[in-house]
Amino acid sequence: MADQPKPAPGYEDTPFIPGSCWRVHDAKRPQPRVVTPGTFSTQEAAGTPPSDAVVLFDGRDLSNWVGKDGGPAEWALREGSVEVVPGKGDIRTRMEFGDCQLHVEWREPTEIRGESQGRGNSGVFLMGLYEIQVLDCHDNRTYADGTTGALYGQCPPLVNACRGPGEWQTYDIVWIAPRFAGEKLLSPAYVTVFQNGILLHVMKELQGPTQHRKATEYKPHPPVGPLKLQDHKDPVRFRNLWYRPLTAYDEVRADA
Ligand code: MG
Repeated sequence: MADQPKPAPGYEDTPFIPGSCWRVHDAKRPQPRVVTPGTFSTQEAAGTPPSDAVVLFDGRDLSNWVGKDGGPAEWALREGSVEVVPGKGDIRTRMEFGDCQLHVEWREPTEIRGESQGRGNSGVFLMGLYEIQVLDCHDNRTYADGTTGALYGQCPPLVNACRGPGEWQTYDIVWIAPRFAGEKLLSPAYVTVFQNGILLHVMKELQGPTQHRKATEYKPHPPVGPLKLQDHKDPVRFRNLWYRPLTAYDEVRADA
């Protein structure tokens, strides 16, 4: 006699979870998708992304990026990383995306030059509009909402988790894009940020695109946008950039 398939673990007689279509320990509830984890980076070498990540930069080329006016990205490839070439302008990805888990690694210049906003300034712009500040704030004072990891001009990070100049650092970011219905803002953007594994922001609400010396407000924009890296005239390096789209976020939220 053929083996009977094993019943799925779980229950069919437990109460429904309030607000959910699933029972407590529901045997029919779908399993989480399998993702194979990557490896962590070291100071010497970049790690590998998880199996379902979209790779934005793997150290080899800038084919996923464009520069000024949509032309070639003219930053310099160096030892598996890409370095800002001052004056060549910001670069942005060809890919456009909204809700995501984003991984970015960056390294401040070894040679310490300038102070405040003039020391190792760059930036990670979600959807090309919302800047998580990149700056050398290791022993460098500047205004709090412009420090490393700040939501620029809006909110300082919980702590200063900077490594020293010349050391590789990481941002792990969870981005929830704003929602619009026509001209109306339905829901603002929310961001969670870790720097070097240390929490900087938890589901922090953004007030609009980040601005210099100005208050801000939302204007409707598409549900996806590119990732932009800033040329602020300092030779900051980046490596190992990838994201995972959070396509199921709305479903999970609705089901929570
Ligand atoms: Mg900046």
